[in-house]
Amino acid sequence: MTEELLLTGNLEEVSKKVVNWLLNRKPIKSLKDWGTSFSLWPPHLTTSCCGTEFGAFAAARFDAERYGVLPFSSARQTNLLVIEGTLTRKMGRAAKIVYDQMPEPKFVIAMGACALEGGIFWNSYNTVLPSDLGIPVDIYAPGCPTRPEALARAVLLLQKRIRSSNGTLNK
Ligand code: SF4
Repeated sequence: MTEELLLTGNLEEVSKKVVNWLLNRKPIKSLKDWGTSFSLWPPHLTTSCCGTEFGAFAAARFDAERYGVLPFSSARQTNLLVIEGTLTRKMGRAAKIVYDQMPEPKFVIAMGACALEGGIFWNSYNTVLPSDLGIPVDIYAPGCPTRPEALARAVLLLQKRIRSSNGTLNK
């Protein structure tokens, strides 16, 4: 390898380190976290009946967009996975694929008793929890179903955590 190539390689490495260092310093980090907290885009993934409550949250009355929550069709442009109630083995696999496709930083809200501890299907052979699939949950929103107001509260809590995090949230 020539000296020129070595220098170019080092420059790339150094510039990456400088950018990372800058992104983790105030006020740039605070600005980045503020922007992230108001840009929470969940993918369209309905796993169970709690999904209707999420639909109500996204509709005109509860107006999720005022919190910056904008449901999106492509997992690769999203950063907030909302697990909407029961996860069967089949839908759990789909949720894990979607979660893996989402870019970092990404966050997870689990809504409904079913996503928390199985709910009315707690002893079913076919029900799994997010933790069984290796999906780390940031905020749990209990209820059966979880009302849209409770989901709004979960989003506000997540936003607060993102803005007050020191880079440790979900990682
Ligand atoms: S918590 Fe209740 S409403 Fe939600 S998925 Fe389970 S059974 Fe359905």
